[in-house]
Amino acid sequence: MAESNFVDYVKIYVRSGKGGRGSTHMRRAKYCPNGGPDGGDGGRGGNIILRGNRNYWTLLHLRYDRHILAGHGESGSKNRSFGKDGEDKVIEVPCGTVVYNAETGQYLCDVTDHGQEVILLKGGRGGLGNWHFKTATRQAPRFAQPGEPMQELTVIMELKLLADVGLVGFPNAGKSTLLASLSSAKPKIANYPFTTMEPSLGIVPYRDGKSFVMADIPGIIEGASAGKGLGLRFLRHIERNSLLLFMVPADSDDIAREYEILLNELRTFNPEMLDKQRVLAVTKCDMLDEELMAEIEPTLPQDVPHVFISAVQGMGLNTLKDLLWEALNAESNKIEGHIESIAHRDKDLSHLQEELDDEGETDDLTIEYLDDDEEIEELEDFEYEEDWDEEAPQGEDKVPSEK
Ligand code: GDP
Ligand code: MG
Repeated sequence: MAESNFVDYVKIYVRSGKGGRGSTHMRRAKYCPNGGPDGGDGGRGGNIILRGNRNYWTLLHLRYDRHILAGHGESGSKNRSFGKDGEDKVIEVPCGTVVYNAETGQYLCDVTDHGQEVILLKGGRGGLGNWHFKTATRQAPRFAQPGEPMQELTVIMELKLLADVGLVGFPNAGKSTLLASLSSAKPKIANYPFTTMEPSLGIVPYRDGKSFVMADIPGIIEGASAGKGLGLRFLRHIERNSLLLFMVPADSDDIAREYEILLNELRTFNPEMLDKQRVLAVTKCDMLDEELMAEIEPTLPQDVPHVFISAVQGMGLNTLKDLLWEALNAESNKIEGHIESIAHRDKDLSHLQEELDDEGETDDLTIEYLDDDEEIEELEDFEYEEDWDEEAPQGEDKVPSEK
C-alpha cells in the first residue's frame, strides 16, 4: 500500500493465560502431623477480551503492540488458598472491528458497540487442589489437577466502520478540499479528475467537543461499481458510512442530473446504499453570486436537504456541519442494523468450519491417579511445611515470531 493516513486492518498474535495448577500440599502442623491434603485450587488464566471504544477511529494503536498475552493463573497453595487469576488483557478496538482467524480467514467475531466486550480467547481454568480428592480410602492424595492450557491465535482485525459521513462525488467535485478544510486530514488536492489510491479519513470537530468522522473514499463512482477502476476494496468501506454527502460543483451543467447519476452508480453497486440518509452539497459556490444561487435553488432535487458551500472560502460550512450532525443523530439513522447485515460478507470460508471447530477446543482436565501404596510411600519423605508443588517451568511460553 502507498502512504495512508489510516489503518484498516492489522494482524496480531494473542494468547490467553493458562490455568494455575492445583496444589498437592499436605498440611503439617506441630500438633497435627498428619493433617491431610490442603492444597488449594489454581487460578484461572487471563482472557483476551475485545472491547469496543468509540474514541478509537483506526486500528493504528495495535500496530505497535502485535503480541498481546494474558497472564497465567497462579498455582494454588497450602491452606486451600486459591492461586491468583491471571490478568485479563483488554484490547480496545474501534466500533466496527471484524476479527478473522489469520491462518484460515474464518470469521470469528465483530465488535460493533461502544463498551461491548467479546472474549476472543478464554483463559484456562485452574486445576483443583488435592483436598478435593480426599476420600475415605485415599486420605492423602498427592496429586492435583493441572490447569487448563492456554490458547493462542493469530488474528486479522479489519475495521469496517470507517466513517459517519461518506463523501460521494465525481472526481474534481471538491471532496478532498472539503475534508481538508473541516478536519486535520491532508488529502491530495488536484485540479484534474485525480483519484487518490487511499481513502482519507478526517475527524471533524463539532460543538462541545463532539466530533464525527468523514471519509473521502475514492473509487466509488469512477466505474468501480462495474468492477472497474479502484475496485471493491474501497467500496467496501463506505458500506457502514451512516450518511452520504453528495457533492456536485456549482459549475455543473445540471446539478440535479449529476446527483441522479451518482445515485444510480451507488444503486448499481449496492441498492442498500440508497437506504442511507443523504445530504447534497453544492460545492465551489464562491464561483456563484447571490443571484445565480437563487436561480439554481429551485432546480435542485427536492427529496434531499441541500446546502451551498465553498470549502475554499469557508462558506456554508457551519450550516453543513449542523445538517450532518442532525442527520447523524436522527433516530432513524441507527447504524447497528447495517452492521448486522454485512458483517459476514467478505470472507466466506464456511468450508473450513470443521477444521476450526477442532482447533478451538481445549482438552478436558485430566487427573492422574496414583495407587494407594505409592501414596503412602511418598508421604513418608514429606517435608515439613514445604509446598513442593512448584509451577512447571514456562519455557514453552515463547511467542512465535510473526510469519
Ligand atoms: P476531489 O477530486 O473531489 O477530491 O476534488 P478536490 O478537492 O481535489 O478539488 C478539485 C479542484 O477543485 C481543486 O483544484 C480545488 O482547488 C478546487 N476546489 C475545491 N473546492 C473548491 C471551492 O470551494 N472553490 C473553488 N473555487 N475551487 C475549489
Ligand atoms: Mg480527491
